[in-house]
Amino acid sequence: MSIAIDLRGRTAWVTGGASGIGAETVATLASAGARVVSIDRSHRDAAPTSAAADAVIEALGDVTDPRGIDRLSRQLVDAGLAPDILVNNAGITSDAPVWKLTDDQWTRVIEVNLTGAFRMTHAVVAGMRERRGGAIVNIASVNGLRGKFGQTNYAASKGGLIAFPRALARELGPRGIRVNAVAPGMIETPMTAPLPAEVRDRAKEETALARLGHPRDIASAVLFLVSPLAGHVTGHVLVVDGGQLA
Ligand code: NDP
Repeated sequence: MSIAIDLRGRTAWVTGGASGIGAETVATLASAGARVVSIDRSHRDAAPTSAAADAVIEALGDVTDPRGIDRLSRQLVDAGLAPDILVNNAGITSDAPVWKLTDDQWTRVIEVNLTGAFRMTHAVVAGMRERRGGAIVNIASVNGLRGKFGQTNYAASKGGLIAFPRALARELGPRGIRVNAVAPGMIETPMTAPLPAEVRDRAKEETALARLGHPRDIASAVLFLVSPLAGHVTGHVLVVDGGQLA
């Protein structure tokens, strides 16, 4: 039996689409036939690499700028790019143990990771409700499910990205809109590349599969969750960590 995921005729918006997991998600959704709007603060290093690169529209947007996001959303909808799919992927870290963590570090991480996802969701949800369908995926983290030294701000934001879609799934389910989260373990991206070798080695040792994840591992999970194959999956957190939490 062969099952192909066909997203032709669908439009997806992916935040943080210029790098790492976001860039791979953009390429994967485009390869499945979707038109994809990659929303990021900058696209300077993001030459589209997928065979479906002509299906990708690069848009400048900062999820910490509510007016800018509203304006961009209206422009995209007016251009015929109303989203069927939203992937809230933009995220940052700013690590320090809580006794050294500044108010600014706390606020910035919550603002980008959690409030940014709320803003994007708010921008798309009225249209999805009118059209009576849609799929939203938040990129959370295993560190939103467990404790990690130095990451109280990040863990709080990612825990929020797990609780938020659960409540949202209840609100939007009656209109046929599904909302889920993916919780990656450590993935090889520009975010994790600067980490000390011992931190990366420790994460690898935690996995059952004896390897760190690749962005395609997360993009594949997102593809499944936004596809009709996951038509009865909502309010779920899909852990994709090579067994780090096993
Ligand atoms: P990257 O740093 O490679 O990519 C994140 C992208 O988000 C960058 O292009 C970044 O732009 C963009 N971004 C940051 N802030 C904003 C903003 N305010 N508005 C719009 N875009 C923004 O990270 P990853 O690909 O590794 O991470 C993607 C997501 O996956 C994040 O939410 C991260 O927390 C999560 N995650 C990653 C894991 C990992 O091990 N890599 C593990 C678990 C979760 P800029 O370069 O300008 O900052």
